[in-house]
Amino acid sequence: MKLELTTAKKWIALFVEKLENNMAVLNELDTAIGDGDHGTNMKRGAEAITAAFAKKEPETLADLYKTTAFAMIQKVGGASGPLYGTAFLDMSKAEKSDELELGDLLQIGTDGLKRRGQSDVGMKTMIDVWQPVSEAAKNNQLNQKVIDDALAKGKDLVATKGRASYLEEKSKGHIDPGSQSSAYLFESLIEAIGA
Ligand code: ADP
Ligand code: MG
Ligand code: MG
Repeated sequence: MKLELTTAKKWIALFVEKLENNMAVLNELDTAIGDGDHGTNMKRGAEAITAAFAKKEPETLADLYKTTAFAMIQKVGGASGPLYGTAFLDMSKAEKSDELELGDLLQIGTDGLKRRGQSDVGMKTMIDVWQPVSEAAKNNQLNQKVIDDALAKGKDLVATKGRASYLEEKSKGHIDPGSQSSAYLFESLIEAIGA
């Protein structure tokens, strides 16, 4: 399937809403294995997305993803700002030349994360959610269970990238905050699609 502009707008609007409603949850997860700011960072990004859309309503998919990317890069900060920013910027560039299938679009975002973060699956980062979600979308099998399974699997991992990696074995048994915010992103997508 391909995303229509209206569906994609709904996707990002729902993501913004979830970030605003769950700042404390994300901060708590980050307090356990990081520096406690992931919720605050992402809420700042959410507000920046809203402000940017109010200033200029996106008219294309490429526009929508680019505006989202810039808001993330400029306002989220931390490790996650440039990561989300790169994922959305790469998706924006790809939409410019092609009408992408959803799974291919998400894979491009995932590849951007890997490149920017010099990371891959199994390192207890948001990639542990993005990659299986992309895979499922390519097979037209994206649903809530894919996200829940990815979070559960990531919980048992030892972090080898990001701040949580400083904790080594002690990072085990905790949900990675960036994986949780990515879960909100893809739960928003499922809701927007109405799947
Ligand atoms: P910071 O760690 O700088 O305070 P955040 O708390 O906003 O930034 O974001 C932390 C999240 O970023 C982690 O939970 C993880 O999912 C993600 N992350 C950190 N480093 C990497 C990396 N190298 N590759 C992919 N994701 C990463
Ligand atoms: Mg943090
Ligand atoms: Mg920080």
